[in-house]
Amino acid sequence: MITERFPCPSRKLRCVWILVAVTGVVSSSAYEWPVRPRIGQHIITATLGEYRSEAGSTPAHFHNGVDIGRAGVSVYPIEPGVAHVDGAQHGVNIGHFRYYHLDGIPPGIDGTHVETVTSIGTSQTHLHLGECDVVFIAGGPGLPPGGHWLNPLREGGLTPFNDFAQPIIHEARVYRQGTTTQLQGDSLVHLHGPVDVWVNARDPRTSTTGQGAGGCCGAYRVVG
Ligand SMILES: [Zn+2]
Repeated sequence: MITERFPCPSRKLRCVWILVAVTGVVSSSAYEWPVRPRIGQHIITATLGEYRSEAGSTPAHFHNGVDIGRAGVSVYPIEPGVAHVDGAQHGVNIGHFRYYHLDGIPPGIDGTHVETVTSIGTSQTHLHLGECDVVFIAGGPGLPPGGHWLNPLREGGLTPFNDFAQPIIHEARVYRQGTTTQLQGDSLVHLHGPVDVWVNARDPRTSTTGQGAGGCCGAYRVVG
């Protein structure tokens, strides 16, 4: 079966379609982990694009990086560059990467060039790692102009990383594209034409956070 992917036509699901689009970005330069062992896999407790509902003063948003579940360990830059420390003193942006939830960021590091062997602080309960497709030019949680978040767990990102966790699929639906007409029975067996695919799935690796990627929508046209 050959499929072509189309933009999701549903306004209601457009936000999650953007999520799928972001996670699909591919790059070619693999890199080591920012905690020791640098060449060794570490536990991931949250993934890119998890939906975070509104909590306190934090508005609802999609998680824009991955969480590495290592507490109280030294953190090292993935690539050398100028360090930009944020105002809260818990985050540093260096090169294409953002490191957050740090204690003990070295005084005076802001605005200086750091190498990959230089510790930039110690992780709190975990390390949040964000990756941008352009170099950061300032501190803080925002993106540089024209920048987009990338998925560090893509092939060609954090290495080594092998994902053996099976997704938990709660429900899957297929609709005639752009409509609320759900296809069932023989219509699913002999699928043809433009359709929307709706899936409610969860990544078991992130169950400790109580957050999950939730429902994602992709629009596919079955052409053969
Ligand atoms: Zn995080």
